[in-house]
Amino acid sequence: MEAIILLGAPGCGKGTVAEGLAKQGDYRHVSTGAAFRQSLEEGSPEGEAIRSCIESGCLVPDELVLNVVEAVVRRHPGDRILWDGFPRTLCQAKAFEVMLKKYGYSITHVVCFEISMECIVARLADRMICTQCETVYSRCLRPPRREGVCDRCGSRVGKRRDDDADIVRRRMAVYEEQTEPLVTYFETVNLLCRLDASQPPDRVLSDMEGILSLPVS
Ligand code: ADP
Ligand code: ZN
Repeated sequence: MEAIILLGAPGCGKGTVAEGLAKQGDYRHVSTGAAFRQSLEEGSPEGEAIRSCIESGCLVPDELVLNVVEAVVRRHPGDRILWDGFPRTLCQAKAFEVMLKKYGYSITHVVCFEISMECIVARLADRMICTQCETVYSRCLRPPRREGVCDRCGSRVGKRRDDDADIVRRRMAVYEEQTEPLVTYFETVNLLCRLDASQPPDRVLSDMEGILSLPVS
């Protein structure tokens, strides 16, 4: 397994790029946030604890996250995985490195999505998402063909509950406090590449392809 980490604030476009690359067939997209939302749908035993973390804009406890991640690592030995939304704390990053080593893998790239806070707040206010397949839409730039109905699977398209303005502020604060230190951490170990995430999606995708085709020092 090859591990590629997408690092950046909520709404920076990690998921969109990961979907774009996954569609071409060479990569698997794994979003820990999507995995948690899925487990809520399925009514998992940890459901209530996870729901209250997500809906208040806080992080799910590291231990729960790492269990989900290890299950994925075990299930997809040969894949090149784009990790979207993981790791989000220094503890998760260090545990991930140990876990990968145990299975004989390592992190090949950490891509840092750089974008202003202003731009992100505007994007999240505009974002809509399919409640079933998580296809992302934009109220202004890319609405579904039929209002409120997913083009891909026909399910309901709406706001994600944690995209509410107050919760977004909280998620941003959590990002700055707990996740941003990872930028320096991965820079120190020479794994970090930076990407201008304020560009349109096709430009971000082609920059990303450029980064992934190059070996990291
Ligand atoms: P975004 O990147 O837009 O914040 P995600 O879908 O990645 O959205 O995550 C939604 C929520 O799921 C987070 O706010 C957090 O509560 C939880 N979550 C996702 N990934 C992690 C993680 N690695 N560690 C802790 N909590 C997580
Ligand atoms: Zn859908």
